[in-house]
Amino acid sequence: APVLVLFRDDFRLTDNPALHAACASGQPVVCAYVHDPATYKQGVIGWWLAQARAALHDALTEKGGHLLQIGGDAVDIVPALVKHLGIKSVFWNRRYDPVGKAQDTTLKTTLESLHVDVQSLAVRLLHEPWTIRTGAGQPYRVFTAWWRAAQNMGEPGRCLPAPQTIEFHNYSDNLEKLLKAQAIPPARLPDGATAAEQDWPCSEEDAQEFLHDFVENNLAHYADERNRPDKDTTSRLSPYLRAGLLSARQVWHAVRAAPQKTVSAENAQTFLAELGWRDFAWMQLFYEPDLATRNLRPEFDHLPWHHAPDLLEAWKMGRTGYPLVDAGMRQLYTTGWMHNRVRMVVASFLTKHLLTDWREGERWFHDRLVDADPAQNAMNWQWCAGTGIDASPWFRIFNPVGQSEKFDPSGAYIRTWVPELRLLPDKLIHTPWKADAALCRQIGFTPGKSYPAPLVDLKQARAIALESWKNLPDRK
Ligand code: FAD
Repeated sequence: APVLVLFRDDFRLTDNPALHAACASGQPVVCAYVHDPATYKQGVIGWWLAQARAALHDALTEKGGHLLQIGGDAVDIVPALVKHLGIKSVFWNRRYDPVGKAQDTTLKTTLESLHVDVQSLAVRLLHEPWTIRTGAGQPYRVFTAWWRAAQNMGEPGRCLPAPQTIEFHNYSDNLEKLLKAQAIPPARLPDGATAAEQDWPCSEEDAQEFLHDFVENNLAHYADERNRPDKDTTSRLSPYLRAGLLSARQVWHAVRAAPQKTVSAENAQTFLAELGWRDFAWMQLFYEPDLATRNLRPEFDHLPWHHAPDLLEAWKMGRTGYPLVDAGMRQLYTTGWMHNRVRMVVASFLTKHLLTDWREGERWFHDRLVDADPAQNAMNWQWCAGTGIDASPWFRIFNPVGQSEKFDPSGAYIRTWVPELRLLPDKLIHTPWKADAALCRQIGFTPGKSYPAPLVDLKQARAIALESWKNLPDRK
């Protein structure tokens, strides 16, 4: 009897335990993806995941099969498919988000009632959310303690090779029609994401190339350069991890295998801890399903957020008058990605200087990021806003000018994304409003016109943010 592999954000052949186990069963295999309205994403991420599915489909075609893609409610479609093809075993890699988890639980019960064997396997994270707990049996609330415990768990399991051959189950039925499947809507890039296609080549081979390029060329200076958007030497693996074109343990083992002569332990450890933050975010989402919508520190429910659509729009479009903030927001809009340091700066600016609810920022990032992830995005917004469990405190307010001078000293990053400032000297590129009239004339720059005047006064906005926080009724 044929067996079924369900692909969900794990669009790869290598290190895919579900596919591996299905092939090892010795039975003919059906590879399927259900495009479910409950889990379907729009925005740049919707486009990216569609690209990743198409790449998997191509890879399966090369092996003589294909990826069956059906639209509809997975909880109905999968049992119907199983019945129709006489499938006796179903394999999938486990999900940990609230909707995916609930679906899989229902699906497993339904399939087992049909006498179908279900195997759900672990590979998405380095450590499953419930496996690392405090001495008292509670989930950790602080990253450093969690990371120490995670390291004591030992190395993640070894990676699995891609199956050499796949014996595909042949069927000639029009399954989409038979199962009354819904049409899968075409996934288009949203307006303005003009560089996404060129920046993010999409296949498993591309993901491996990014990984090897990073380990060979940039891992050796990761600890020093990871905060420098002008150097741009972080791995850029987040979109590949998000779509599962690469597994976290593939990344882990590639970093571990880097020669110690060139890559110091400090660089490797600093990088692996970042990968640890990914697991930590997923652990938080597992225990706090409303991580993207609820302040984990309830005292922040009383914060008097401003509701200023024009300020929010200026932030989204990179027209705040603060060059590093604007550079980041334009990079995001155009490419679907932003450097981590700049993500922190723009998030601090939105929540503290503009006193705008972090959930607005979370939603915008979710729409525009090619790596938009329900756990990492939500946890990081709560971290930046100070509303999360292990978070930067509210009173730590990044100065966007200071951050700019420190992490983009020559203004190379700003010049890339805010070209109207490119003729300003390095010293003034962080504070264009300070350019004197003679210089402005000389370079044809009109403050407030060529480039917006600052949206808010930093000192004043900071004072208001601190005051609002000090007045919270149950501040801890
Ligand atoms: P590298 O520095 O090379 O790090 C390697 C990997 O470690 C990343 O690919 C990522 O999987 C993980 N990682 C690194 N930093 C973090 C972090 N702070 N939290 C969790 N995991 C981390 N990352 C996403 O993948 N999706 C998101 O939706 C997302 N939203 C964010 C929102 C905000 C406000 C902030 C401040 C950060 C967000 N991050 C998100 C985390 C981080 O910015 C990106 O993972 C990182 O910039 C991706 O680039 P990279 O792969 O070159 O990172």
